[in-house]
Amino acid sequence: MPCEVTARFLILYGSQRGQAQSIAEEICEQAADHGLTADISCLSNVEKYNVENETRPVVFVVSTTGDGDPPDTAQKFVKKIKNKSLPRDHLSHLRYTLLALGDTNYANFCNCGKTIDSHLQQLGAKRFYATGHADDGTGLEVVVDPWIEDLWEAIKKILASMSTVGQQAATNCDCTQDSSPKNDSNQEINKSDVVVDFHLLKLSEEVSQKEKPARTYGSDAAETHSTTLVASLKHSVPPLSQTVLNVPALPPAYLEVLLEQVSTEGETFPADKEGYREVPVSKAVQLTQGDAMKTAILLELEISDQDMAYKPGDSFDVLCPNRENEVEELLVRLGLQMQKNNAVLLHLLKTTNKKAAKVPLHIPQNTSLEFILTWCLEIRSVPKKAFVRALADCTLKSSEKRRLLELCSKEGSADYNRFVRETNVCVLDLLRAFPSCLPPLSLLFEQLPKLQPRAYSAASSSLQYPGKVHFVFNVVEFPACPEHPARMGLCTGWLADHVSTILLPLGTRPASEGLGTLAQPKVYVRPRPSSTFRLPTDPSVPIMMVGPGTGVAPFIGFLQQREKEREANQETTFGETWLFFGCRHKDKDFLFREELERFVHNGTLSHLIVCFSRDETDAVNRPRYVQQNLVIHAKNVASILLKDKGYLYVCGDAKNMAKDVNDTLLEIIGNELQLDKLESMKTVARLRENYQYLQDIWS
Ligand code: FAD
Repeated sequence: MPCEVTARFLILYGSQRGQAQSIAEEICEQAADHGLTADISCLSNVEKYNVENETRPVVFVVSTTGDGDPPDTAQKFVKKIKNKSLPRDHLSHLRYTLLALGDTNYANFCNCGKTIDSHLQQLGAKRFYATGHADDGTGLEVVVDPWIEDLWEAIKKILASMSTVGQQAATNCDCTQDSSPKNDSNQEINKSDVVVDFHLLKLSEEVSQKEKPARTYGSDAAETHSTTLVASLKHSVPPLSQTVLNVPALPPAYLEVLLEQVSTEGETFPADKEGYREVPVSKAVQLTQGDAMKTAILLELEISDQDMAYKPGDSFDVLCPNRENEVEELLVRLGLQMQKNNAVLLHLLKTTNKKAAKVPLHIPQNTSLEFILTWCLEIRSVPKKAFVRALADCTLKSSEKRRLLELCSKEGSADYNRFVRETNVCVLDLLRAFPSCLPPLSLLFEQLPKLQPRAYSAASSSLQYPGKVHFVFNVVEFPACPEHPARMGLCTGWLADHVSTILLPLGTRPASEGLGTLAQPKVYVRPRPSSTFRLPTDPSVPIMMVGPGTGVAPFIGFLQQREKEREANQETTFGETWLFFGCRHKDKDFLFREELERFVHNGTLSHLIVCFSRDETDAVNRPRYVQQNLVIHAKNVASILLKDKGYLYVCGDAKNMAKDVNDTLLEIIGNELQLDKLESMKTVARLRENYQYLQDIWS
């Protein structure tokens, strides 16, 4: 066997929506600047790597999805290393580090990364550099950027120590067989010792001063911003405006886009693309009063012609197009309005130095430009710093260019978070704010992520509504702010507009007649089954459901199912069912009120506990939120979970409600069992592991 004295390392990523992949690729690209050679593979490409005899240091980059689950591409790997029959030293040869991506808005922050980390450790693998836990809730780059910065030193150290060991062990091995690239890499590593970080382009003081506008913003900026010194998306204030900037390396261009003048008119969404089916909306009902704070809409989809069986607890993915006016504006802004029906042909740039460059699979060849911008790219996504960096390079006016460089720089991180991330600015907002920025189409294709479907929990049971599925959503509204005009959530706004012609007012029973002569709008959906969010197989097990607002959706499915099962199995014993529901006003947004009262009336629901957060009442200490009602019923909660081995389901808002409910549960368990915080946390973790405490939450 040849000895392994190399400057190579391996990157393995597990990505659900492409973020982990793009960070892994970024690490791969930067490696060369540090005299290192990186090999990269998705964790699902099992034929490309084998950790069981891996001699290179391994960098894992993994995201977490759903309720702390591994991304689809990492599931097999996680299962493999979780295998309890593996010996304790199974991976004792492996040297690794790990970057975990997660979101603290969810209870199981970075769970996939943590799981991989702990199982690698249990199997004897040694971590050579501290694990990074990056939080999408506060900005991945806050952790990712410094983590990558310090990674290089750590890799070099581990490679040096491995090669020392390797050389000692290699006294008997035939090093002449070693392949030349590895030797080249070794030479490169020496070179890199004297090289400062190339991945940060240091703008010189001189350039900075030249670009820095006179006194404050320079002549360009002064036109629009002459008196007050207030930072905004477009303008900075000192000290940032006068600082030397560390900006990320320019992402290498890698796509060549050709627009061919062939007719693509009449092009439609391919019928079975990625498992989506086009199904008619047979009913749309507004569930809230006109003056409610949020508008909730129930949709009924006709799925009898499709192979789309589902169970309560499952969700459906809805793929909606980008807004027509936004696509149009983007085309105009790119100067491509006249070519919108041209067919797009994509090639890799022959001269690219992007490592592992690939033509993005989500951009179909030979499809019209308009189609791609409408159906394939998330044009509303928040541009990453690398994208902003590249946009700066396409900006003519020096003051605008300087501001874009500030926004992607280390020094401008706070401004990026404040004016780009937190306000959910998209590429169109940036193009509006920086009129002299003229990016090529290829840059947008390289940087915009794939358009993602939005998931909606099934709010029905097919026993109750054969051939149909219901779901319910709040129309998300974002008010106007200095960074962008008022807009609605992409999918909920589109759905609301799309079904407006058939929308029935509050009080119309979802089961009433069809649409008569009205044309049925159609939507693209595909099932998204849940493996865990299910009614217990034993119907005698008691359940508690916590679902304020639209979080009640899956529980309507559960209760419809139970109602039918009770009708069909009169002899069967059914466990107690509790539902904790909450909304703002009893008379405005009490979703499914009649149906819930029917469930109570016919015994399907044993306890309906409701609260209204904004209704005035004389009652002192009246509970306003679901978690307060859980405290009132703490004895039952504890007894159902701990004595009866019952289930607690939580569904809805991840940001506040699910966290508050989790804290309350810790408190209830702690009080009931007289445990300190740590022990309560362990008990709650066990409930999760036993699938007795289940969440279906979103933000
Ligand atoms: P988007 O345009 O995608 O915006 C979504 C989020 O982006 C906002 O919440 C906000 O955080 C941020 N954002 C975007 N633009 C701005 C801006 N300008 N200013 C501030 N913030 C901004 N939802 C339901 O209503 N009912 C359900 O039953 C349901 N079930 C779900 C089940 C699962 C498994 C999952 C993962 C999610 C579920 N959701 C449900 C959430 C749903 O998928 C969508 O996220 C939600 O409807 C918003 O989609 P949108 O396209 O309208 O909003």
